[in-house]
Amino acid sequence: MKAEIVAVGTELLLGQIVNSNAQYLSQELASLGIDVYFQTVVGDNTSRLKQAIELAAGRADILIFTGGLGPTQDDLTKDVVAEVLGRSLHIDQMAMDHVERFFKDRNVPMTENNRRQALSIDGATPLANETGLAVGNAIAEGGKFYILLPGPPNEMKPMFEQQAKPWIMQHVLTNESPIFSRMLKFAGIGESALETKLLDLIESQTDPTIAPYAKESEVTIRISTKADSESAAMSKLNVMEEQIASRLPDHFYANEDVPIEKTIVDMMTEQGLTVSCAESCTGGMLMQMLTAIPGSSTVFLGGIVCYSNAMKEQLLNVPHDLLEGENAPEL
Ligand code: ATP
Repeated sequence: MKAEIVAVGTELLLGQIVNSNAQYLSQELASLGIDVYFQTVVGDNTSRLKQAIELAAGRADILIFTGGLGPTQDDLTKDVVAEVLGRSLHIDQMAMDHVERFFKDRNVPMTENNRRQALSIDGATPLANETGLAVGNAIAEGGKFYILLPGPPNEMKPMFEQQAKPWIMQHVLTNESPIFSRMLKFAGIGESALETKLLDLIESQTDPTIAPYAKESEVTIRISTKADSESAAMSKLNVMEEQIASRLPDHFYANEDVPIEKTIVDMMTEQGLTVSCAESCTGGMLMQMLTAIPGSSTVFLGGIVCYSNAMKEQLLNVPHDLLEGENAPEL
């Protein structure tokens, strides 16, 4: 099963916004076992959007669009997809009620073009927009699947998670076994070094699959497998987790999607350890991260933020020589 993500918006082509929707959707599709071979970006232009749709439909089974569902004339996605599929548009009454309620609750007059946000392609499943106004659409046509999502990430993500994903499971992945995934988290190692350690596993991967993701300050690997039962999936994932973890014992810290500070607090609680912090340039950020974890009061005692050398000497007894003498580190 192959998908193509079609991000619509001239702002993307002008470099005014980053195509973070494609990044999110590619990760989500990978976790469903769906391959993404192409990501397309196209401006708000009818004929070029039409070309993009025809090209994508020739090489993918699922086309996922983001953007261009808004109220203005340059929001073209629904009109153009409808035209390509030879269908008409109609007002979806539930979506219209949602739009009208939005303006009524805020006591703001609704303009005529807001009605465009309630438009649905004939025969499509409407995808409710919990965090915005424009209704999304999901359509099966000629063995292909078309999913239309809004551009703003805070609307697109919940719509994908709550509406589009279940639709894909029900209409697209009908004969496939469910997919089970596990996040493995690593710290203190970059993505390329981690990949080098796992290269043979990654290159020969079949089942489970291994997908590395780099985030700020940490690297995550998602291992996924298809299986008929959860217990069958767990045994396959356990074997792969053990293999990966044994190669990176100093960096592997969790097999679920938790922040590293939570793992630190949990490990310290278990071992009866405590911590206090002395921070300079980080201005208290480390303490903020620790105290944001529920239960951290058992391990975190307190700390000092001091920025000037005088304060460091006075409050923390840092030797003067270390701060300003010839032994001082060069900053
Ligand atoms: P609206 O109702 O807000 O007009 P829309 O579905 O028509 O929504 P666009 O007008 O294409 O979406 O984009 C609205 C905003 O959403 C953009 O200004 C941008 O901030 C964000 N956005 C759009 N596409 C993307 C994308 N691919 N990645 C990240 N953000 C995006």
